[in-house]
Amino acid sequence: MPQRTRRLFRIFGIDIEFDASWFIILFLIALSLAGEFQRIPGWSLATIWAATLITTALFFACLVLHELAHSLVARAYGIEVHAIRLYVFGGVSQITSEPKSPSAELLIALVGPLTSLVLGALFYLLAGQVQRSAPLGAMSWWLGMINILLGVFNLIPGFPLDGGRVLRALLWTANRNFLRATQWATQVGKVIAFLFILVGIVQVFHGGEWNGLWLAFIGWFLLTAADQSLKQTELRDALSQYLVRDLASPFFSRVSPDETLQHYFTQQAEQHDYQPSLVMAEDELLGLISPSDLKSIPRETWERTPVSEVMAPRDQVVTVSPRDGLGDVLDKMVTQNLPLLPVMEKSRVQGVIGRDRILQLVQSHFSSQRLPH
Ligand SMILES: [Zn+2]
Repeated sequence: MPQRTRRLFRIFGIDIEFDASWFIILFLIALSLAGEFQRIPGWSLATIWAATLITTALFFACLVLHELAHSLVARAYGIEVHAIRLYVFGGVSQITSEPKSPSAELLIALVGPLTSLVLGALFYLLAGQVQRSAPLGAMSWWLGMINILLGVFNLIPGFPLDGGRVLRALLWTANRNFLRATQWATQVGKVIAFLFILVGIVQVFHGGEWNGLWLAFIGWFLLTAADQSLKQTELRDALSQYLVRDLASPFFSRVSPDETLQHYFTQQAEQHDYQPSLVMAEDELLGLISPSDLKSIPRETWERTPVSEVMAPRDQVVTVSPRDGLGDVLDKMVTQNLPLLPVMEKSRVQGVIGRDRILQLVQSHFSSQRLPH
């Protein structure tokens, strides 16, 4: 849910965001680490907590590095990366579109686990240089173990894990059909997810091991994720038959930059279902204004504040061309939470495309598919 995430910081132009659920894992990791460090003889309470905090922070940095590796390689292949989101199971790169070729998919997927494995090896190397019971030794030992675990876990060929993406890239190379490859990789992913759940349940009921609960939980998570990713790919496939110009509307709400916010709100926003309005002087697009931009402006100043002071200026407005595919456009709208985009050709506004219109098309497409012909 985009509303629940918060931005931590920005690196290489990519926002690092976190989800509330991420604190659960951070807390659990810190707790289990503290428990482990407690058992080392000769450590004071202060040492235990300092080592716990530093190790947790470094673990977080390793997660971000894993995701950054995916993101930077994706960007090298011309795929926009909006943000990296940290949540209960680690990180996800908010990559705005699917890779265009199997080799791109393969490299983007592989580089993450490789980063974790290399980090793991480096920490093990460091751990080998110092005494295991010394703080530096214990910390790097644990970080080595967790990074290797992270790398290996992500290489499990269950889509949408990195390993599943590697599998999809290989299937895609073999049969040249992206949708088919995704369907197969998803099936393998589901089998693996069921195995996780099964082994987890057996561990709990036969071995009395509560760790099995974690395994079952991971399996359940993988199962949902596999289903969701497949649905997304099917949706993209359905949308790829359409271009922006098939669905764009030549009618849109426009305001001039020197209109007041009050006038904009009562004359445009309220009349147009609170959709964003294009700010234009003559035929030139100057920016975009949405009712939500007014939230932070005190109402009593609306009468004297011009639209130009509050709008998103032209260089921040995402626009599309009539020939762009609808799949990519919907991805952009969803990942960046944009309800409406101006359609431009040769720097002239041709119309707008709304997220609602695309979603309506999706609905009618999928409901007509289910009807018997
Ligand atoms: Zn990864």
